[in-house]
Amino acid sequence: MDYLELIIIIEGLPLRRTFRCCVENLISLTSGVMLVRMSEPQVLGRYIDAVTECALSHKETSSILEKLGLSSPQYSEWYPLALFHRFLLYLMKFHGDEALFEVGKCLVTNTPFPDRVSTVQDAFRSLDLAYTIVHRNQHGSMYGLKSKSDFQIVVVAANPYPCPFDWGIIQGITKRFAPNATVSHDFSHGCRLDGDPACHYTITF
Ligand SMILES: [Zn+2]
Repeated sequence: MDYLELIIIIEGLPLRRTFRCCVENLISLTSGVMLVRMSEPQVLGRYIDAVTECALSHKETSSILEKLGLSSPQYSEWYPLALFHRFLLYLMKFHGDEALFEVGKCLVTNTPFPDRVSTVQDAFRSLDLAYTIVHRNQHGSMYGLKSKSDFQIVVVAANPYPCPFDWGIIQGITKRFAPNATVSHDFSHGCRLDGDPACHYTITF
């Protein structure tokens, strides 16, 4: 048995009602009605807002968000990650990998880091916790950090987001905390765009 949450949107005001329902695998989006499976991966509205703020320069952004029911995400409400993922895929389809890369970089520019984060290693170590705060119903580590040598570290991104988005985030963090370092994608470990479970990004100092 699964739990479904029915969100009825009347003139832009979401009224939430929760029902128990035995319908399996049901996710639908129709005019004004969104059914959210409570156990599915979800993302907080404030994260959607922060990311889409970086994408608004692209003219299709608003219409895509509206089509997906994500045009006015509420700060503290949860939304299906699958829908937000589709938004990023649309953006990549219309504007290419570079657009998503730039959105990732912009997100870092607009995001304050805690005072305790003072090195690029601290920043990458904080990624997994930061991800956990704005996502739920996912298991396992979404970001990992490995030390390859005195001069290289590797960030492993194993979350559902498209590769160029994380590549932009990692580039943005590197420029902010270690401006002379370079970032490259180690394709010998595969890439999520090819269906592999993770992407490995090497930061060289
Ligand atoms: Zn990749």
